[in-house]
Amino acid sequence: KNLTKSFDINGGFFSRKVGEVRAVDNLSFSVYEGEVLGIVGESGCGKSTTGKAILRLIEPSSGEVYFAGTEITALSEGDMRKRRRDMQIIFQDPYASLNPRHTIEKIIREPLIVHQIGTKKEQLERVEELLETVGLSSDHATRYPHQFSGGQRQRIGIARALAVHPKLVICDEPVSALDVSVQSQILNLMADLKETFALTYIFIAHDLSVVKHISDRVAVMYLGRMVEMATKDQLFENPKHPYTRALLSAVPVPDPDAAKEKILLKGDVPSPSNPPEGCAFHTRCPDCMDVCKIKRPSLHEKEKGHYVACHLYE
Ligand code: SF4
Ligand code: MG
Repeated sequence: KNLTKSFDINGGFFSRKVGEVRAVDNLSFSVYEGEVLGIVGESGCGKSTTGKAILRLIEPSSGEVYFAGTEITALSEGDMRKRRRDMQIIFQDPYASLNPRHTIEKIIREPLIVHQIGTKKEQLERVEELLETVGLSSDHATRYPHQFSGGQRQRIGIARALAVHPKLVICDEPVSALDVSVQSQILNLMADLKETFALTYIFIAHDLSVVKHISDRVAVMYLGRMVEMATKDQLFENPKHPYTRALLSAVPVPDPDAAKEKILLKGDVPSPSNPPEGCAFHTRCPDCMDVCKIKRPSLHEKEKGHYVACHLYE
């Protein structure tokens, strides 16, 4: 609810604060139990910051986060640490997130030790079980991260996240660093695990085609703001926001006869430290009107469950 995260920009002679980046700007949304909410946007749009702020891996500047009725932004650090058992994260770069000096067994067992779950024997059995769950062999337990391919490393990251039986998993671009051929294997695995363990995902990606199959609903972010949110079908069949339409036009279609016209956006994403006035997208929007340059559009529900922030619909 009204989640905001600003970072100071320091500079000058004494490295004083010279500005501020509002990486996440007043986001409000819900994630329902058992669903997959995709969050999509270009790099720098604030999607990873949103994911980390929800888990308080970085502290939000303002706003509240509720998990199953508890305001977790009001919890002490100690209580938050306990609560993290229910909320895990899978990172984009499976190599950077696995300690190269630890065996796979140690890496997957670590959350069980942190949360004091089971005896050592039970923890080791759980590691074996988890390796098999993610499609690896229990023989792999004594090896080190560098002995695995990118896809296998992401399977290890997934096993570690699932070790403590979380309810919510934030998936921060889990396939972006992988070869295209491996991406679909990992996506299929994650979809299967979601069903098997009744998980809820927030699935962050920079590409709509990645979230297309796995998501129930999709939110689109631009410069720290949410510009559209809808069910997957609504979003893919009837995108409303000009930015969503441009992103969708870049998604390849299997049937060449159905090829759509690609919408090219002019210019680059503006700097998040100095976002345009009014609608933050107006400098690149093919439909920009005068009002867009001065008045910021707010997110409105235009059809049931379909929200958009754009003056074309006001
Ligand atoms: Fe484009 Fe205006 Fe809509 Fe922004 S508010 S997306 S500039 S039409
Ligand atoms: Mg990111």
